Amino acid sequence: MPGTTPRPAAQPDPRSPFVIDTHEYARRPGSMRTVHDTVPAPDLLGDKDGVAVVPPGSDVRLDLRLEAVVEGVLATGTARAAVVAECVRCLEPLDLEVEAEFQELYFFPGEDTGGDEDAVFLVNDLLDLEPVVHDAVVLALPPAPLCREDCLGLCPECGALLNEDPEHEHETVDPRWAALADLKDQEDSNSGTAPVAPPAQDHQE
Ligand SMILES: [Zn+2]
Ligand SMILES: [Zn+2]
Repeated sequence: MPGTTPRPAAQPDPRSPFVIDTHEYARRPGSMRTVHDTVPAPDLLGDKDGVAVVPPGSDVRLDLRLEAVVEGVLATGTARAAVVAECVRCLEPLDLEVEAEFQELYFFPGEDTGGDEDAVFLVNDLLDLEPVVHDAVVLALPPAPLCREDCLGLCPECGALLNEDPEHEHETVDPRWAALADLKDQEDSNSGTAPVAPPAQDHQE
């Protein structure tokens, strides 16, 4: 299912830039740390075929507050990253930034979580920010980005960029109308000021 991330109870990999060791302050309720760091996106953030994604390895800027509370460590923060996106109407590439706020309480092992099945835990005082950052960023990605609110999109006939050529149009769109237009053209030329031949000679048969 999209939007859900398994939260294994295995020990987080301490080498991951998303894993934070809270050993020094986790058991001292009231103490607080801030973290400001830029880390690489571990994998694609967003739908593989989506109109807005954060590619793997992109810089993810983390501004984070870690508070030791009675039940564990509360992480509150913001993740920012450049987004590779295209306008859903005209398909032009867009320069966007996603800003996602997140909060997660990492419980001490054995702590009563009040029946919360999605609860996450500290393992050896390590907490892993990756799942919560991943979900927050994916949720914050624009589902239908536009280069501008009134983007005119593409000409359905030829694919021309209508933003650059708002007057763009095609003479004949539908073959049924095209036939009528031909008749109209004939009438127009027959009633013109300089007919090729006198009208009487058009009725030989
Ligand atoms: Zn557009
Ligand atoms: Zn066109």
